[in-house]
Amino acid sequence: MTPQPPTSQPLTPAPLTDRLLRSWLRCRRRAWLDRFGEPGERQWNAHRALALSDQLRSFQTLLPQRPGHGEAACADGAPGVVGLRLRGRGPQGLQVESHPALLERIEGQSRWGEFAYRPVLARQGRRLTREARVVLALWGRLLAEHQQAPVPHGLVLAGEGRALQRERLALGGGLQHQLDESLQRLAADLDPATPPPLVSDRKKCTLCSWRGLCDQEAAAMGHLSEVSGIGGKRREMLLEQGVTSLAALAGRDPEQLAEALSVYGEQHREIAAELVDQARVQASGIPEPLGEGSALPELAGAPGVLLYDIESDPDARDDFLHGFLVLERDGAGGWNEAGARYQPLLALQEHGEQRLWQRLQRLLVRYPGWPVLHYGETEVIGLVRLAQRQGATEAEVQQLRGRMLDVHARLRRHWRLPVSSYGLKAVAGWLGFAWSQKGVDGARCLLWWRQWRHWHRDAGRRGQASRLQLQRIFLYNRDDSLATWAVVRWLLAQD
Ligand code: SF4
Repeated sequence: MTPQPPTSQPLTPAPLTDRLLRSWLRCRRRAWLDRFGEPGERQWNAHRALALSDQLRSFQTLLPQRPGHGEAACADGAPGVVGLRLRGRGPQGLQVESHPALLERIEGQSRWGEFAYRPVLARQGRRLTREARVVLALWGRLLAEHQQAPVPHGLVLAGEGRALQRERLALGGGLQHQLDESLQRLAADLDPATPPPLVSDRKKCTLCSWRGLCDQEAAAMGHLSEVSGIGGKRREMLLEQGVTSLAALAGRDPEQLAEALSVYGEQHREIAAELVDQARVQASGIPEPLGEGSALPELAGAPGVLLYDIESDPDARDDFLHGFLVLERDGAGGWNEAGARYQPLLALQEHGEQRLWQRLQRLLVRYPGWPVLHYGETEVIGLVRLAQRQGATEAEVQQLRGRMLDVHARLRRHWRLPVSSYGLKAVAGWLGFAWSQKGVDGARCLLWWRQWRHWHRDAGRRGQASRLQLQRIFLYNRDDSLATWAVVRWLLAQD
């Protein structure tokens, strides 16, 4: 559904805020929706909660004492200050407003006395993004005006405790130029009558609270990003070749398109027919087999299967949960789905990897010859690397690899489906599978895990809430295995 512009426009335009600027730097449309979108269409998103909890831990490591609040705390020279609202003028007289996440007192001279402040930002991910740099530049500029003292640097933090990383970021020169340009373009994009288009690379949408609304619009208009295999760059090429929608792509002659795309490189020529076929299947809604034979012949004589799914904290490089669903034959050639048993192995880093490896080995030995089914490469990569680190011989590693079957790879080899993504959520969803906890995704699970870790370390807070959090993580992980089984069952039914 296309978002509707507001019916009347305020006489004085609202100021451009740091939050709007951050949204705009991610996606122009997002800033527009933040200002004019229907609040009810916005979905809660775990990524923001994750970012805020990471930020809090970084800040608490930098300044263990509670920060002061607002103008009064600055006047008192508090070591850390939150809640200060800064206002000023941007290029072309634009009104600008920001709330720095944290100000740290430093040496210097300001209107408050023999000290000054600098803004502090907690970085997400491994690299400092353009978005974070420009927002920090805005904080620095408005703070300099407010405290009547220059702010040549901002401070960027990442991590917590002994692993806290600090980086000084110079806020002058080219960054100020980027800030001015961004503010002017943001102001121009906030025309209430014209929402900017969907972002080209829709991978960015995973982190966005407007995703539900934009997904609906993309599906309704047959946006090219709906075709599995088309990212931002490929979409641009197709647009240049006059292919503007899923339906248009489905109607193209594959050979002509291959010729047209070859100007961008041989790899694009080779993919052209695949894109047209995928668009045709999505347009028709009918799955297409890609060859003869069973997708999973190994299951024909198997006494049972283990469905395996790992949950990870990528920033901590921590595979914290190895979940297995034990599913046996029912004695009549079918599968005893009602009797499936979920077995989670929680991998606490303080217990060491050796203990985890022993537990995994004991479990795998208990079900000799049972295939281990997983969706995607994560599990085989994680388990094989773990085995190698623990000194498994080459023969043992090969045996392990031989037992593991990647359901995603088999599906891609044998079927073309009318789905916009071959991820587990999209494929199992297309098959009618529903996760038992509504609206839960990997980010929400990660948030629960980090909260649980935090509580678990804090003996005073262990208890029912902590247990409940762990049960939710297990339930989510078990559902992923059940979703994988839904895909396997469908593949077996096609044989
Ligand atoms: S869901 Fe995607 S296209 Fe829509 S506003 Fe968010 S990032 Fe932009």
